[in-house]
Amino acid sequence: MTQSNAFEPQNDAVPRHVDVLIVGSGFSGLCLAVRLRQSRQDSFLIIEKGADLGGTWRDNRYPGCACDIPSHLYSLSFAPRNNWSRLYPSQPELWNYLGDIADQYELRCKIRFNTEMQSARWDEADALWHVATSVGAITARIFVSAIGALHVPAYPKIAGIETFAGRAFHSADWPANLDLSGKRIAVIGTGASAVQFIPEIAPKTEKLYVFQRTPPWVMPKLDRSIGRWETLLFRFLPGYRHAFRFWLYWYYELRALALNGNQKLLKTAEGISRRHLARQVSERSLRAKLKPHYRMGCKRILISSDYYPTLARPNVELVTESISGISGDEIVSGKNRRRVDVIIFGTGFDVSGSLKRLSVTGRNGVGLSATWQTDVPSYYGICVSGFPNFFMLLGPNTGLGHNSVVIMIEAQVKYIMRCLGFMRRKHLKTIDVKPAAQTNFYRKIQEQLKPTVWQSGGCRSWYQDEKGQNVSIWPGFTFDYRWQTRRVAWDDYSVTRN
Ligand code: NAP
Repeated sequence: MTQSNAFEPQNDAVPRHVDVLIVGSGFSGLCLAVRLRQSRQDSFLIIEKGADLGGTWRDNRYPGCACDIPSHLYSLSFAPRNNWSRLYPSQPELWNYLGDIADQYELRCKIRFNTEMQSARWDEADALWHVATSVGAITARIFVSAIGALHVPAYPKIAGIETFAGRAFHSADWPANLDLSGKRIAVIGTGASAVQFIPEIAPKTEKLYVFQRTPPWVMPKLDRSIGRWETLLFRFLPGYRHAFRFWLYWYYELRALALNGNQKLLKTAEGISRRHLARQVSERSLRAKLKPHYRMGCKRILISSDYYPTLARPNVELVTESISGISGDEIVSGKNRRRVDVIIFGTGFDVSGSLKRLSVTGRNGVGLSATWQTDVPSYYGICVSGFPNFFMLLGPNTGLGHNSVVIMIEAQVKYIMRCLGFMRRKHLKTIDVKPAAQTNFYRKIQEQLKPTVWQSGGCRSWYQDEKGQNVSIWPGFTFDYRWQTRRVAWDDYSVTRN
């Protein structure tokens, strides 16, 4: 294994070979890069299709973009920040945080920006990954996908959409310096992103139509600024910061009980949300339109204290008739035609599709898309059988509906580092998870998913693929995932030696 070989590119040229190639410089790619740096395995490179780092927190710049998990938990445990300005971090603050991590661990020189992975192919003869990128080919012994799940915008299929005369864009592609004053706007979708930007833009617009297909469950957002004294406590009393994170962790962790089948807790949470709606919306007909008709948590639970009041503004109309088409500058729904200048798609991301379309070819020329044609099996969302020396961060069934996904990222990075350490110590050329181990894991996960709200909550969501199979969510506690991945069960792997 090439280790600490002082690979440190001095210019923007893309090297022909690295030991570890990481695709994506979001939270997960950076987390792995930090760990490689700390363990002095410097022959690694991150390729990044964008012009800057940060993944989803670079791309999503819509007004009001923020995280719905508190900053002190939605951050790396080994890179705490003492001076978060609010309980829930805004996009700029999170993006800065990731930039600071890259600076602190001198990672920017390890990232090749504007470099898109086109395909990756395992070569058995030289036991290397051959990765084609937009700027040239790279070989790597270890290949890691850190591309995240939320990066391919999903657009609705609406008849006549191409005839729209005004401006139309996705929430993840928000134009810089956009002025919506005096404009007539249509927002399609009422998911996690839309409920954040609708309250921000509504006061500026002449008219805002919000097209809702499914009413979301919304909980109050108990956000607050973090004052000077508390910041000082975080800074000078690390114990206080640890205790705060610990408290947040368990508060969010316990939400898994409700989502995984505890009906009493789920009903209690639904009651809080219903009271939130009743308190904030007095008009009966509007309230009726906003009442969810599926179990809470089946789709992502939203938090907002200004979304409902915004819908009650005189210049805002909640439209629940489904859109039948777009004609010129009009959106047609039912018998109504609404003239708009701008359409904003808050319609989410193609999660399962982006996974399945990854052009990665493993042993015997079999691609990931073929492996995942009917099911999406993996081993802890980290490895896939038949794809030696290939690791994923936030792979299938490792997303969360209840806690900070950064916890899952750290567990996976730890696991990968263990694998790399073991390979080095035992002089292994390849590791590949055994098909039987993968099947056992996959069956167990699908079985565990059955009683959960994601499977039986009466809704469709991006957690599921086109067949309704949940390919995104970890059905349990994060501490359980951390426990199960704390060691590498080497019996579950086939290995070859150097
Ligand atoms: P989303 O939650 O998937 O919401 C998409 C919205 O668009 C839904 O209301 C959906 O309606 C609607 N929609 C989709 N296709 C449609 C169509 N053809 N016609 C009409 N409506 C359509 O997407 P998002 O708001 O971009 O959020 C995606 C994910 O990003 C979230 O679930 C969350 O994990 C993450 N996110 C996180 C944060 C955070 O704070 N951590 C913030 C923003 C986003 P249906 O419900 O009927 O499908």
